[in-house]
Amino acid sequence: MGDYESSTDADDTLSRARGALADAFRQDVAETVLPSPELIRHKRDKLHQTLPDGGLGISQVTNHLDEDIVPALNTSSRSRNYYGFVTGGTTPAAALADNYVTLHDQNVQVRLPDETIATDVEDAALSLLCQLLGLDPCVWSHRTFTTGATASNVLGLACAREWTIARLASMLGVPVGSVADLGFVNLMRHVGVEDIQVLTTVPHSSLGKAASIVGLGRLSVKDVGIRHGSHKFDMDKLERALQAPRVASIVVISCGEVNTGFYATESFDEMKRIRDLCARYDAWIHVDGAFGLLARILRGDSFRRVRESCAGIELADSITGDGHKLLNVPYDCGFFLSRNIAVGLQVFQNANAAYLQTASQGILPMTPSPLDIGIENSRRFRALPVYSTLLTYGRTGYEAMLKRQVSLARRIASLVCDHPEYELLPESSEAKETRLERIFIIVLFRAKDETLNTQLVRRINATRRMYVSGTSWASSPACRIAISNWRVDEKQDFIKVREVLDQVVRIYVQSET
Ligand SMILES: *Cc1c(COP(=O)(O)O)cnc(C)c1O
Repeated sequence: MGDYESSTDADDTLSRARGALADAFRQDVAETVLPSPELIRHKRDKLHQTLPDGGLGISQVTNHLDEDIVPALNTSSRSRNYYGFVTGGTTPAAALADNYVTLHDQNVQVRLPDETIATDVEDAALSLLCQLLGLDPCVWSHRTFTTGATASNVLGLACAREWTIARLASMLGVPVGSVADLGFVNLMRHVGVEDIQVLTTVPHSSLGKAASIVGLGRLSVKDVGIRHGSHKFDMDKLERALQAPRVASIVVISCGEVNTGFYATESFDEMKRIRDLCARYDAWIHVDGAFGLLARILRGDSFRRVRESCAGIELADSITGDGHKLLNVPYDCGFFLSRNIAVGLQVFQNANAAYLQTASQGILPMTPSPLDIGIENSRRFRALPVYSTLLTYGRTGYEAMLKRQVSLARRIASLVCDHPEYELLPESSEAKETRLERIFIIVLFRAKDETLNTQLVRRINATRRMYVSGTSWASSPACRIAISNWRVDEKQDFIKVREVLDQVVRIYVQSET
């Protein structure tokens, strides 16, 4: 018989959870970044695969979690030497707030201003976020938290699709309803639009997925870079593509590409040129700035190049950002900003749901309910960790954190650049200083020895002292270090990374002789 009914047990469980949270932050972060595969295998055998008829009770389950599950998790968030993907960590302020979120389990779906402050907190958090990024909250009227950047890209393409087809229809003089009501297949046929294209450079894989979800198809995503795989837009190619008759266009700017951390645009002027083209040809601009966006908060000369690479994003129509990456709040948290609330409401409106109407209904669309401007109806109170961590650190706190991350990335890049056995990617004939100025939080590199290079990621991760991701660059394997944890320690972490990279070469050379 389960003991979950007793409130004393509930209290015990909660204080145990609080203790575990405090421990997690007090403890020195694990020396090894991964549990061993043997341990994971062993713990996997302990998982319950059969639903217990009577229930095991909370104490037994708590022990199970502590003994069998927690030790078999990686430290992607807790270790500052986990450099895989771009995971971010969780600041104590965000972790605390996230536990409140669970405890109070608010559904941030409809506005109930006289019943809960939750939607007000969400508004405040989104406004703070805009301020952090130097974006005017009044301009970005459609703003919402999402599950992550992928969901934000879905929102971006859905809004863009709605708007571009309507624009094309009005240009062609065809009176129309909305894509949201009629479906874009019907509407395109009616208007005579033949295709919808997504023009971009070095897109994140989630853009193709978003294109698939909203029915544009992965093949609608077209590279208009100066050459394939180049970050830079070929402005002539872009303009020619935009000129295609009876084709609706969406331009997506990769504001921080995952392999290199490089940006599609590098100045306000470049963004302005794209904006002017899109204004001329009625294209919607969406910026995918999942992690790159945050470079806007960096001041100082040494960060000018990355800062200017996200200058001008205020000229876009919509923007994707991630909270669970550089903002260091727990999964799952992304955000979406668009300047066109009317389009957002058109796409995401819950029509005819009388039971969801609230007191604020009368003042729509000034303060729409969250369920009418995003994918989900019921949703988690994702705003609270963001609100809490932004207030705790402030603008300068986040700037200092990001500067530590970028500085570590540049020290590692410099090491790799000068190293006899390693090579910084992408290859470049530029001076080292210039190359380092482009480095944001990602270092892409390879081993010069071809054989070592194919084993590099495995060998680095086998040390269990740090963790890196593998990728491929110019059709051969490459290794990627992404620095995104709030705990980053520029000096100590650099020493560790250097030791590991040297150790990997040493062991490889020994094994070869
Ligand atoms: C990480 C990332 C995404 C996907 O983000 P999720 O939060 O995993 O959905 C999209 N675009 C870019 C540029 C990214 O770096």
